[in-house]
Amino acid sequence: MSTAATAPASGFDALRAEVRAYVESEGERWAELIEREHRAPPELWDELRDRGYLRLAAPAEYGGAGVPFTRYLELLELFSMSHASLRMIVHVCNGIWRPMDSHANDDQRERFIKPVIAGEIKVAFTLTEPTAGSGADMRCSVVREGDTYHLSGEKHLITFGTIADYLLTFARVEGTRGAEGTVALMVPTRGEGVDAREMAETMGVRGTDHGHIVFDRAPVPVSDRLGQEGQGLDIALSGFLGPSRISLATTCVGLAQRALDLAVGYAQGRETFGRKIAERQAIAFRLAEMATDVEAARRLVMHAASTWEQTGHAPMQAAMAKLFASEMLQRVTDGALQVHGGIGYWATSPIERVYRDARAQRFEEGTAEIQKTTIARDLLRNR
Ligand SMILES: Cc1cc2nc3c(=O)[nH]c(=O)nc-3n(C[C@H](O)[C@H](O)[C@H](O)COP(=O)(O)OP(=O)(O)OC[C@H]3O[C@@H](n4cnc5c(N)ncnc54)[C@H](O)[C@@H]3O)c2cc1C
Repeated sequence: MSTAATAPASGFDALRAEVRAYVESEGERWAELIEREHRAPPELWDELRDRGYLRLAAPAEYGGAGVPFTRYLELLELFSMSHASLRMIVHVCNGIWRPMDSHANDDQRERFIKPVIAGEIKVAFTLTEPTAGSGADMRCSVVREGDTYHLSGEKHLITFGTIADYLLTFARVEGTRGAEGTVALMVPTRGEGVDAREMAETMGVRGTDHGHIVFDRAPVPVSDRLGQEGQGLDIALSGFLGPSRISLATTCVGLAQRALDLAVGYAQGRETFGRKIAERQAIAFRLAEMATDVEAARRLVMHAASTWEQTGHAPMQAAMAKLFASEMLQRVTDGALQVHGGIGYWATSPIERVYRDARAQRFEEGTAEIQKTTIARDLLRNR
């Protein structure tokens, strides 16, 4: 497979064309199967892995394709036009290694990071709790006895939380508060003291499993802790404050573009009162506004991505990109459904799934309120 890192520009163009063709052909076939069977089968994972799509963004020295971040986002935008479960697999696998790598030692890089990039193991990002806020509020806790932690507590809404081999779990040393004493642990999903159960079906993102996990003094070797005690929250948030949020914002742009394309196609075909509805100014202006919204988000996301690529630090830009792109996605999918008229509300219409899938992206990688908190903190600090 060509990669942008190793090939001239034409090599990347070929890769982008290949991904576009995949999304439009195989991607559509998988989407149909996932919606029908309500599951994203292991064969889909295998196909994405074998095509090299799960290691695009990882560095070449770890076995990745080494596609530069901004170029990877161009590909992620295309994947996001496909079924949400396919987008989720590509997004998570191309990103999960990054927070792990920030604090891993060489032994952990061999045991966890290289295998996850090679697609030999799956890792689920395990932060959200049913009884606490995400972040310094977390209640999952560990007690250390010799070289072993015993982990107790509950997590939920965890993407791939039942099918993953490891849960990248964030907890705190019992008795600590705030960021102090937080730890990041690699916990085997099917290990002793871990009960991971699939949650009820979601509104959209059909076929992706989400786990509710209970830890009951689950033993975890201290050698499977990434970083030091007190660095757990740093590891959890390091991705959120940059590449992960920017990637999620890109997925919003991709899905919004898909909604816009569907709306344009429908408006050009549907005739009422003797004219195509696209010829009515009310509809044409709506489409124009939607296209402008998508393009504005795309530019903001790319600005955040290049800032992060150049400086390694873009918390405010990442939060702005995620905030704007996820709210844009709601406006655009809502407008696209409206352009379809009543038939768009039926499951036989492709916009119906796009509309359902889009709603999830307002929660993933933090809500609007959390993005605004980050932006306001930076804004007020800088003044
Ligand atoms: C499809 C999907 C996949 C997900 N995958 C994962 C995953 O893989 N791993 C994982 O760890 N989590 C995952 N999540 C969880 C997601 O990250 C959270 O839902 C999100 O961060 C919001 O947290 P919460 O659900 O606990 O909401 P809550 O914290 O209960 O918030 C409820 C509401 O109150 C607001 N709010 C909360 N606190 C504040 C505050 N301090 N100030 C102002 N407003 C506030 C929120 O913005 C929200 O509107 C997933 C969620 C979805 C929908």
